[in-house]
Amino acid sequence: MTNLTEHTRRVWNPMTGCTKLSPGCDNCYVERIASRLSERYFDGEEKYHSYALGFTFREHLDRLLDPYYLGPSILEVNSMSDLFHENATLEFQQMVFKAMNECPHILFQVLTKRPERVLELADNFNFTPNIWLGTSVAVNGSLGYIEHLRQVPAAVRFVAFEPLLELIQDVNLDGIHWVTVGGESPGWGNAMRACELEWISRIVQQCDEQKVAVFIKQLGGFLGKKMGMVNAKGFPDLKGGEFEKFPLHLQRREYPIDVDAFLSQWVEVESPIKGTFRKWISKS
Ligand code: SF4
Repeated sequence: MTNLTEHTRRVWNPMTGCTKLSPGCDNCYVERIASRLSERYFDGEEKYHSYALGFTFREHLDRLLDPYYLGPSILEVNSMSDLFHENATLEFQQMVFKAMNECPHILFQVLTKRPERVLELADNFNFTPNIWLGTSVAVNGSLGYIEHLRQVPAAVRFVAFEPLLELIQDVNLDGIHWVTVGGESPGWGNAMRACELEWISRIVQQCDEQKVAVFIKQLGGFLGKKMGMVNAKGFPDLKGGEFEKFPLHLQRREYPIDVDAFLSQWVEVESPIKGTFRKWISKS
């Protein structure tokens, strides 16, 4: 378990759009951003064509090769969708997994609110060690997601308590390697719900008791405002992400593996000629 500041992350969205299915989705930021980008598309900005249909679920063949051009990094998969959305085709999901399998130098973080679907389809995919699979739990009523996640054959299984919307007094983290926590940022209609320091503290306490690495991403807009946080541009920080202002016991950004060691083990074996893939092998 390492204790690091957050690494530079990238996002890869081979799919976009989604459908709401739990209280954690109510203020979905994807809906807000996708709708905004869709309006820009209709204003004639071609680069936003992926969002021409706004929040409607779509698969994008033209994005499947993106990871092959990247060096060692952490890549969040489908920050604007859900890889296991009910309209996703198995064929496309398998192509996404193929790309992840063929890029062992990238840590892929896949977060879903549909872990029962992952379990149902698991035999169709190769969960190589560079694929981390997680589910998000906002309220006690979603704790059942963890039961499904526990059975998924991923090297790292994680639970994102984001946005944390109530006190979760008891959670069984057996078989879980990593927990992230965060309060809500403004979403659809700029709405955001409260998060309390006691709720975050209780999650951290349970991680410590059950020896699970914990990463506090942000306190959320409600606490950020209350605690007078400001962002890099000097405006009120509506993510509540000013780490130095977190109470000391919540200044925790741990990973379940030594991420620095993972990222520095790779060496490029083919010179990157413009327009061709990059290839990396482990030094060890
Ligand atoms: S699962 Fe995620 S992306 Fe989909 S509606 Fe819910 S919050 Fe939005």
